Amino acid sequence: MNTYANTVNGQPVVSDKTFESFNPATGEAIGRVPISTHQQVKDAIAAARAAQPAWAARPDAERKALMMKMAEVIKNNGEELAGWVTREQGKPLGGVGPDQVPGARFEIWGCEAWTQVPASLDLPVEVVYEDDTRRDEVHRKPFGVLAAIAPWNWPLLIAIWQIVPSIRAGNTVVIKPSEYTSIGTLELVRLINEVLPPGVVNTVSGAGEVGAWLSTDPGIDKVMFTGSAATGRKIAEAAGRNLIPATLELGGNDAAIMLPDADPKAMAMGLFWGAFINTGQTCACAKRLYVPESLYDSTVQALKELAEAMPMGDGFKEGMAMGPIQNKMQYDKVVNLVESAKAQGGTIVTGGKPQGGPGYFYPLTLVTGLKDGDRLVDEEQFGPVLPIIKYHTVDEAIASANRLDAGLGASVWSADVNKAKEVASQIQAGTVWINQHGMIHPMVPFGGVKGSGYGVEFGQEGLKAVTRPQVISIRK
Ligand code: NAD
Repeated sequence: MNTYANTVNGQPVVSDKTFESFNPATGEAIGRVPISTHQQVKDAIAAARAAQPAWAARPDAERKALMMKMAEVIKNNGEELAGWVTREQGKPLGGVGPDQVPGARFEIWGCEAWTQVPASLDLPVEVVYEDDTRRDEVHRKPFGVLAAIAPWNWPLLIAIWQIVPSIRAGNTVVIKPSEYTSIGTLELVRLINEVLPPGVVNTVSGAGEVGAWLSTDPGIDKVMFTGSAATGRKIAEAAGRNLIPATLELGGNDAAIMLPDADPKAMAMGLFWGAFINTGQTCACAKRLYVPESLYDSTVQALKELAEAMPMGDGFKEGMAMGPIQNKMQYDKVVNLVESAKAQGGTIVTGGKPQGGPGYFYPLTLVTGLKDGDRLVDEEQFGPVLPIIKYHTVDEAIASANRLDAGLGASVWSADVNKAKEVASQIQAGTVWINQHGMIHPMVPFGGVKGSGYGVEFGQEGLKAVTRPQVISIRK
C-alpha cells in the first residue's frame, strides 16, 4: 500500500507516523497518510510565510495566468483525481447517464470552474471619496498566510474553494484535509505545485489535533474553516484570542417549503436532488421539507418514486446515482436519527433499514408524520434521509424554517415567483433558493447565518473576504 506525502515548499514531506485511509464502499484500506508533527505544521507555516511576499508582489496578470495553468493541471489529471474522490469519499464516478448525476467527475469539473472564475476576477482600487481637497482610495491587500481546514463530503471542491481565492488575492496557504479523505487533497496539492511557485500552497495532514495546531498558530493571519459547528466554535475562539478573522462554513438544517400552488410532479426532481445530492452529505442539502396538507400525499408519492429508482452502490460501478455514507461516525448518526424518528411516531415511506456491509450503505429514506421538535427534524442528519412535515399556514412554515440555530440555505417552491420571494425574504438563511435548492455558482456569494457560521465564499464578495482593505488618503 502506498504512503502519500504532504507538500511543503514544493517538496514531498513524510512523517514517522501514518494512518490508513479506507474506501467507504468496500471497507478496504487504500493508502497511508502522514500524521504531521507539531514541528511539521510550524515548518509548513514558515514555508508559506517565506513564499508570501514574492507571491503577492507578482503582477496580477502573472498570478492569474498561473492559476489558469493550475486549472489545466486539474483538468489533465481529472480522471485520476475523480478516482480518488470515488475511492475515498464514495460518490459515484460518473453517475446515471452522461453527467446527469453530480458525482466525482462533476466534483473535478467544479474544481476547474472554481479555479478559472476567481482567476478571472479583479480587485480594482475603489475611489470611495473625492473632492477638491482630497481623494480616498480603498486598496485590497492579502492577509498573508491562511490556514484552511476542510471536511470530507466534497473534499477536493471545498479545498479549491478555500485555496483559490486566497492565492488569487496574494495570500499563501497551508491546508489540512479531513482525516477521512486526505489522499485526494494531498495528490491535488502535489499536482498544482507543478505550476505554482514553491510554498504558495502547502499541506499538513492528520486529525483534529493537527487542525488545532494549524488554526491556533500565531503565524496564521486568517482561518478558512468548513466543517461542524462544534469545531467551528473552537476555531472562532482561537481566532478571537489571536485577533484574526475567520470564515466559518458550518453545518446547516435547510428547510424547503412548498407553497400551496406548487406542482409536486414538476418540482419533484429538483427537490429530490436538493435533498439527496452526494447521498445527502452536503452542507446545503434540503434537510426538512415542509408541505401543505393539500399537496402532502402527491409530494410524498413523487419523491418515493424517484428515491426507489435511484441505484446505490460502489461508485466505480457504471450507472450508480448514490454512494455510501462516508464514515462510520456519520453512518451511526443516520441510523440513530432514523430509529429515533420511528420511536417518535414517524412513518418510513421508503428505506429506513441499514443494508449491512461491506461499506456504509444506507438506503434513501423518506419519513412522514414527524413534527418540529422531533430529533430528525431538529438535528442535521447529513445523510440520505428526508423528513417531510405537514404544515397548515405559510406563516407557520416560515416560523418552522426559522426556529433552529442554523441558517445556511433554504428554498421556496411555487408557481408564483413573486409570492415565493415574499416568503424567501422572511427566512433567516444565507441563501434562499426559489424552485431549486443548493444551486451554488462560482460568481454567487455563499455563506451561512446563525449557527451555520459567518463570512462568505465565491464571487467578488468571496475574493474580498480573503483581503483586508487599506485606505490610501491623498491630500490634494
Ligand atoms: P469536523 O468539524 O469534524 O471536521 C472538519 C475538519 O476540522 C477536519 O479536517 C477535522 O480534522 C478538523 N478539526 C477537528 N477538530 C479540530 C480542532 N479542534 N481544530 C481544528 N480543526 C479541527 O466536520 P466534518 O465531520 O468533517 O464535516 C461535517 C460537518 O461539516 C457537517 O456538519 C456539515 O454540515 C458541515 N459542512 C459544512 C459545509 C459548508 O459549506 N457550510 C460544507 C461541508 C460540510
